Amino acid sequence: MKRLFKGLRGKPPNNSYDAVIIGAGIGGLICANLLAREGLRVLLTEQHYMVGGYCSTFRRKGYTFDAATHFYPLLGNPATITGKLLLDLGITNGWVKMDPVDHFHFPDGSSFAVSADFDIYLAKLKAEFPAEAQALDRFFALVRDVYMFGLVSYFRWRDTDRLKPYAHMTVREALDQHFRNAKLKLLLAADCGHWGSPPCRTSFVFDSMLRLSYFLGNYYPRGGSQAFADELALRFEQMGGDILMGSAVKRILAGNKTATGVEVEVGPANARSVRRVNAGVVVSNADLLSTIERLLDPRQVDTDRLAAIRRLRPTHPCFLTHIGLKNMPTEILREAAGYHWDSWDSDQVATRAFKIFVPTLYEPAMAPPGCHIVIVQKLTDIDYDAIEDWPAHKAAVENYIMNNLERVMPGFSEKVVVKLSASARTSHQFTINHRGAMLGWEMSPDQLGEHRPALNGMVRNLYFTGHWTQPGGGITPVIVSAMQVAHRIVKGKEDYSGHTNATPDPMNIRRDFAWVADMRREKELAVQG
Ligand SMILES: Cc1cc2nc3c(=O)[nH]c(=O)nc-3n(C[C@H](O)[C@H](O)[C@H](O)COP(=O)(O)OP(=O)(O)OC[C@H]3O[C@@H](n4cnc5c(N)ncnc54)[C@H](O)[C@@H]3O)c2cc1C
Repeated sequence: MKRLFKGLRGKPPNNSYDAVIIGAGIGGLICANLLAREGLRVLLTEQHYMVGGYCSTFRRKGYTFDAATHFYPLLGNPATITGKLLLDLGITNGWVKMDPVDHFHFPDGSSFAVSADFDIYLAKLKAEFPAEAQALDRFFALVRDVYMFGLVSYFRWRDTDRLKPYAHMTVREALDQHFRNAKLKLLLAADCGHWGSPPCRTSFVFDSMLRLSYFLGNYYPRGGSQAFADELALRFEQMGGDILMGSAVKRILAGNKTATGVEVEVGPANARSVRRVNAGVVVSNADLLSTIERLLDPRQVDTDRLAAIRRLRPTHPCFLTHIGLKNMPTEILREAAGYHWDSWDSDQVATRAFKIFVPTLYEPAMAPPGCHIVIVQKLTDIDYDAIEDWPAHKAAVENYIMNNLERVMPGFSEKVVVKLSASARTSHQFTINHRGAMLGWEMSPDQLGEHRPALNGMVRNLYFTGHWTQPGGGITPVIVSAMQVAHRIVKGKEDYSGHTNATPDPMNIRRDFAWVADMRREKELAVQG
C-alpha cells in the first residue's frame, strides 16, 4: 500500500532530538504533531511497517480492511475540541457521518436503530417504552450532568465534588437504578462491546461521555482508518518531524531517574543494528507494561508502582473476522449491520453478542466496485496465557462467527471472496498491546482518574500517551492524553512521582458545556462529512 509520507527510508536518525516518541498509534501521532508544531525536533519511531496501531488497515485481494477501529466520534465535527484540533493540524481527510449511529438486534428478533439526532432517539425510546418515559427523562438529565463533570474531571484534570456521587457508578448500577424493563436496559447498553468490558465493570461517567458524543457526530474516515493515520504522519513530516518505520525501540536510556534517550533498531531487515538517540524527553505510546518492564532499566523502576500497575485488569481482546464479499445485496447488509444479542443480560457481552460492521456502506472504495466488506467483532473472555493452541482457538471463534452470519444472512458463505481472522494474539503481534487488549486497562470506576497510570512517571522526562494511561481507552481519550502530554512538555510541567498535576490544559471545555446545556444546538453545529 502506497504511503502518503516518506519516513527516513534507510537514512539514520539524528544523534539527538528534543523529543523521541515510541509508537505511532493515534496517541503517538497526535503528540508528535503537537510537539513539532511548537518547533520541537521530534523523532517518531514505529516497530510496524504501517503507522496507526489499532487505526491501521491491511489489504487482501483488492479489499482494504480496517484492522480494528471503525467508530471515530466527534472527529468530523470542527465545533468539538478534537474535531477542531484536527482542523488546526491541517487534516483534510474527509469524514462520513453515521446515521443511524448504530443498530441493535435483540434475542426476540426485534431491532432498534439509534438515530444520530438525540431528540429523535429519545422520542423513539419513549414511544417503544411509554411506561419508562419519565425514567428516560431523568436518566438522560443525569447522563448530561455526568458528561459535564466527567469532562472537567477526567479530560481536564480538575477536581469537582459534583462528580463524586457518580465516579464509582457502573453502567449496570445506573441502569438498574433507573429502569425496570429488561429490554430497555439491554438497549441502553447494547453497544457496550466497544468498551471491551461488561456494563457491571464499565464506568457510567465514561459511558455517558461516549453516549452523548455520538449525537455530536460519529464518523468513519474517508478512505478508511489508514488514510487518517497516514495524513497525521504526513503533516508531522511537513512540520519537520522524522519518522522511523519498522524500527522498535529496544531500551529507554535513563540514569539518576531521568530519561535521556532511546536505543532503537535501524537499517534493513537483513542488516539490523541498534542506534543510540539522545532526547530531551521520551514519550511512550507503546504498551505500558512492556515500556516499564522491557524498555526501562529495572533499577530505574519504582517496584511498588509497577506492582500496582500489574494488578490492573486489561480490557477483553476483540476477535475480528474480516470478509470480502461479491454479489452481496447492499440492503441485506444494511439490515444485518450492528450488534446481535442472544441474551437479555448485557453483562454477557463477551459470550452472547457480536457486532457486524460494513465499512463499504460508508466508504465503497474500501472494496472493488460493487463489492462489500463485512467485519465481525466479537469480544473474547479468554485466559490469554492459558491458550496453548491458538490456531484451534481461532478456528473455533471463526466457526461461531460464520455460523451466525449464515443464520442472519442465509447464503452468506457463497458470497465470500476472502476471509481472515485476527485473535488476541494477532492484536498483540502487530501492536504489542498486552494480551491483545482492546482499550488498555478496563474502563471501570476503580481504574480511572488517579487510579489509572499517570501521564508521566517512573523517571523524569518520560511521558506516556495512549489507552494504557489517563484518561482512558478509545480514540477521544487517547487524543486527550496526547494533547495533555504535549502541553505538559511544552509548558515544562512535570511531576515524576506519578501524581498528576492539576495543570491548566489546552482544552476549552466551555465549548462542550454549551453543547450539553442545550443538545438542540447539535442540529445547527453537526457537520455532514
Ligand atoms: C477491534 C478493536 C476495535 C476498536 N474500535 C474502536 C472504535 O470503533 N472507536 C474507538 O474510539 N476505539 C476503538 N478501539 C480502541 C482504540 O482503537 C484504541 O484505544 C486506540 O486506537 C489506542 O491508540 P494508542 O495510540 O493508545 O495505541 P495503539 O494503537 O496500540 O498504538 C501503539 C503503537 O505503538 C507501537 N509500538 C509498540 N511498541 C513499540 C516499540 N517498542 N517501538 C516502536 N513502536 C512500538 C505499536 O506498533 C503501535 O503502532 C478499538 C480497539 C480494537 C482492538
